[in-house]
Amino acid sequence: MGEKITDYKMIIDGEFVDSKSGAKIQIECPSNKAFFATVPRGDKEDVDLAVNSSKKAFQSWYKVMPKERGKILLQIADDIEKNKEEIAKIIAKETGNAIKTQARPEMNLVVDIFRYFGGLSSELKGETIPLGEHVLSYTRREPIGVVGAIIPWNAPVMLGACKIAPALCSGNTLVMKAAEDAPLAILKVAEICQKYIPPGVLNLITGTGSECGEPLAYHPLINKLSFTGSTAVGKIIMKAAAERILPVSLELGGKSPSIVYPDVNEEWTVDGIIAAMRFTRQSQSCTAGSRLFLHRKIYDNFIGSLVEKLGNLVIGDPLDEGTDMGTIINNKQYTKVCDYIKDGLENKNTEVICGGLPPKSGPLSEGYYTIPTIFRNTSNEWRLAKEEIFGPVLVAIPWDNEEEVIKMANDSHYGLAAYVWTRDITRGIRAAHSIESGWVQVNQGLGQATGHSYGGFKQSGLGREFSLEGMLDSFTQRKNITINLNTPSKDLEDL
Ligand code: NAP
Repeated sequence: MGEKITDYKMIIDGEFVDSKSGAKIQIECPSNKAFFATVPRGDKEDVDLAVNSSKKAFQSWYKVMPKERGKILLQIADDIEKNKEEIAKIIAKETGNAIKTQARPEMNLVVDIFRYFGGLSSELKGETIPLGEHVLSYTRREPIGVVGAIIPWNAPVMLGACKIAPALCSGNTLVMKAAEDAPLAILKVAEICQKYIPPGVLNLITGTGSECGEPLAYHPLINKLSFTGSTAVGKIIMKAAAERILPVSLELGGKSPSIVYPDVNEEWTVDGIIAAMRFTRQSQSCTAGSRLFLHRKIYDNFIGSLVEKLGNLVIGDPLDEGTDMGTIINNKQYTKVCDYIKDGLENKNTEVICGGLPPKSGPLSEGYYTIPTIFRNTSNEWRLAKEEIFGPVLVAIPWDNEEEVIKMANDSHYGLAAYVWTRDITRGIRAAHSIESGWVQVNQGLGQATGHSYGGFKQSGLGREFSLEGMLDSFTQRKNITINLNTPSKDLEDL
């Protein structure tokens, strides 16, 4: 007997609804390939209802005192915190991300995000402009209106929260399209939000990119687009924004370099490299440090320790507390990752250091499991070193001098994150300043934290969303008001 299938609804105007067409999408659990849920397959008609509902809700939401909006976000944070374990389990089930290493930490960050923005509502301040004694010129930070938000599947709740919390805090309303493969946990968060906000302030719709995402991007009542996903789809979103000159935020792909200098403590740095490469998230992370530039002097030793430590990672059921590394999201991504591995195995100039194609039998063959794989290559000019694989495939390239390695690090159309590992802080800072990426970490490989202005250079994105400045820049528009105070009275005797 197959697993019980649970029917989920999407949220439009405070109601839990099916799509108007009645069509549904089946949700597969990537660790056993069984369908376990359905969500509505929303299309243009549903998008239209959602956007109109958010447009209506905007008329009163932006007038709610900022302090009250902040209080609401704090209540939402408390409620999510109470339910975070249940939501973490949903994330693990729908994405394949291990509960211990990924899904639970993701939910902790989601609570932080709502709390952080809940505390920022009084920071929606404007400026005064010194134009003289008889002029009052000031700016107001006004909300933009209805935000159309589209999110991917790899950290669905965290990436959703980074849009919901700042957009609502600053007085916007939001229509969010969840990723087709991971809509359930973010639906649960949106459901919690409904208890505290008026209908239409946050609509959460489900459907495919072309049938639901595209009509949202092109809807004439959308005032701002906020997208997280691949660079290819980001370009489609930017075109949609260009049609109506909409402000747009894009958080896109990456192929981030990790540069290791020869002076590091190797054992310690190996742990950092594993963290930066996001191996315990199957490297399905935009910030994965997937190009490892290792100084030639330490190359062999370092790789030896790295392989040994990767061998200790437990790969298995994402819901098992002993698991470090879960599964790839779906068959499409799994096939794509395997194709890159085949390419590496067939390339004459490449040596496979560990890993390879996933096992064809045994428990790991029952889901979309892959194994950590490292290829050695001397060239940065290679498909595996250039393209975002979004799987646990690391290319390790030796280097000899700093100028050469910085040049290789920057030789990418991406510029999202970077990692520098050295005990010499002067060197570390010099490298950090030379690297063309929106976020460089020196001697650590951590994930995003609230308050840090996160976003990409080059084709990795446009705009920032994680911080106060991100909220002000991405979710408000400045209005300048200039008043001439020097108006003569009609009749001097009036005075
Ligand atoms: P994706 O294919 O670009 O999809 C992202 C979202 O866009 C999904 O909801 C998708 O719907 C939707 N979409 C697809 N085609 C569309 C269209 N024509 N019009 C409107 N929406 C459309 O990306 P993904 O595979 O889900 O996620 C992986 C990518 O996201 C990687 O490149 C990764 O680097 C990037 N990412 C970036 C960040 C960052 O912060 N910079 C964070 C996380 C992920 P469906 O789900 O139905 O396909």
